[in-house]
Amino acid sequence: MKILIISDIHANLVAFETVLADAGEFDHVWCLGDVVGYGPQPNECIEKLRALKPLCLAGNHDWAVIEKIDLGEFNPDARKATLWTREQLTPHNLDWLHQLPERVPTELEKFTLVHGSPRYPIWEYVLGPAIARINFDYFDTPICLMGHTHVPVLYRFKTEDDIAVPEALAENTPLILGPDRMMLNPGSVGQPRDGDPRAAYAMLDTESLTLTSTRIEYDIAATQALMRDAELPARLVNRLSAGW
Ligand code: ZN
Repeated sequence: MKILIISDIHANLVAFETVLADAGEFDHVWCLGDVVGYGPQPNECIEKLRALKPLCLAGNHDWAVIEKIDLGEFNPDARKATLWTREQLTPHNLDWLHQLPERVPTELEKFTLVHGSPRYPIWEYVLGPAIARINFDYFDTPICLMGHTHVPVLYRFKTEDDIAVPEALAENTPLILGPDRMMLNPGSVGQPRDGDPRAAYAMLDTESLTLTSTRIEYDIAATQALMRDAELPARLVNRLSAGW
């Protein structure tokens, strides 16, 4: 089975459609949260994703839009984009955000899915090996998939040394999952933050147990034009070109 792994679409439909076209055929979609927030096409992104019948997690931006978390936690630009998103969404799409789970152990029993971290699924950023090490104690499966930082990365748990070791995810090279336990972030579809503005996604092959990470150029200017039309904050518009 081939499973498309995506995260942090952030209402960037142009990036999302580019990823879907590049990914080709797959059997399922696992989405690690933050479908909306920041970007200009929240309804379209939810509807496109829903049509794929995904396994989708809740992210902090999804929860902020439906007032499940306080907007005081957000910076002014993120807050403005959240309020704008709340006004745009149809009741049907707001309901869909409400039912997103915080944490999912998959039916395959090998994977735990979260947005932020296994310890604090909505909020914690796994930004380095020390935080990754702590979080290996908070899930039981061999592999954890997470999003939230918008930076593609792999952490391997080295039992003999009791440490988490970070590795870059090599592009277009199948990564063999195991024998170490792993935490993996596929990066962000709609707002990459590793200095590379291309959209990021990964494809999981459950037979060979490999994960292949991909970056793909999309029409950033098209998304930025829609953001300007919507009067979304200029800093959010500009950051897409820089990939941060
Ligand atoms: Zn995000």
